Amino acid sequence: MRAYNFSAGPAMLPTAVMEQAQAEFLEYPNEYASVMEISHRGDAFLSILSAAESDVRELLQLPNNYHVLFLPGGASAQFFAVPMNLCGKQTKVAYANTGLWSQKAMQEAKRYADVVEVTQLQETDYVSIPASHTWTQVNDAAYLHYTDNETVSGIEFNFIPQASHVTLVSDMSSNIFSRVFDVTQFGLIYAGAQKNSGPAGFALVIVRDDLIGQALKITPSLFDYALQVKAHSSLNTPPTYNIYLAALCFRWLKQQGGVAAIEKINARKAQKLYAVIDRYPELYRNRIDVSCRSRMNVTFALPNDTLHARFLQQSAALGLINLEGHRTYGGMRASLYNAMPEAGVDLLVSFMKDFASAV
Ligand code: PMP
Repeated sequence: MRAYNFSAGPAMLPTAVMEQAQAEFLEYPNEYASVMEISHRGDAFLSILSAAESDVRELLQLPNNYHVLFLPGGASAQFFAVPMNLCGKQTKVAYANTGLWSQKAMQEAKRYADVVEVTQLQETDYVSIPASHTWTQVNDAAYLHYTDNETVSGIEFNFIPQASHVTLVSDMSSNIFSRVFDVTQFGLIYAGAQKNSGPAGFALVIVRDDLIGQALKITPSLFDYALQVKAHSSLNTPPTYNIYLAALCFRWLKQQGGVAAIEKINARKAQKLYAVIDRYPELYRNRIDVSCRSRMNVTFALPNDTLHARFLQQSAALGLINLEGHRTYGGMRASLYNAMPEAGVDLLVSFMKDFASAV
């Protein structure tokens, strides 16, 4: 009876993962207790943590000079942890403003550093991403930050910005593990867990070794990357059950053939959905420039409130749920993260065709 859940996050988890968690809910093998009830310093949890880390390394092909951290506070905590850890003696940081989430990251960074906005988009312009050669060049910034996928409007980068003189930092909350990319272009990547890694409860942080150890004095210990690297993300009690579920998700992704294999499926899912949107442009309007349409969050709007309400009601009756868009933009948003089965997209596409024929 599980529905196809198009929520932008917390999002659908693989059914196989939920079933395994269910089977081990009361007693984790050989522990006679739940993962929730065992020590974060004990061997059983430490091996879960180390499996999670090594699977992340394998999935993203991380070189040894990158650390993997599971930190509290979700991606929003990284909005302040990044400037606190990476500014060092520099005061200037650069941010590409491409949507709501990059804006939030930038606002938070302004508390700790002088922010240079390298793309001057207005909110109404959040429909395309300017080519990086048009961005303001800032060579003396501690880093350049951008949001690889803007979850709210449904904009995704189809390139890695050139940042030869500065450290590149990316918020990949809503598209990490969805496609292959070259990690070595980045100094730091972070992602909230609740889309492609597991349930909400931590942020995954991947940071290059030479960038740690220069946190501002005011940095709380919990968010000091160097201290957390030393403590294996366990400076305090980590969200053990969430890390366990994420470890199951990483293993599941490896079983699917890893990131390269899921990338193909993700491309196909998004292509099918955009094809039906483009086939009925009067009914389903997507505002985003074709070159940067998100593969993860497909947004579209119907022409009026009556059709909007009817669409939501009829789709939900078929088990297609949480299609309503973010409160800022309204309309619809179908999030197609790794755990959304292709069959869910096929059902949505066939519903959208039927809906179009009926109006
Ligand atoms: N960045 C992006 C791109 C997001 O989509 C979100 C959450 N939707 C966040 C940051 C904030 O994440 P969290 O709620 O984990 O703090």
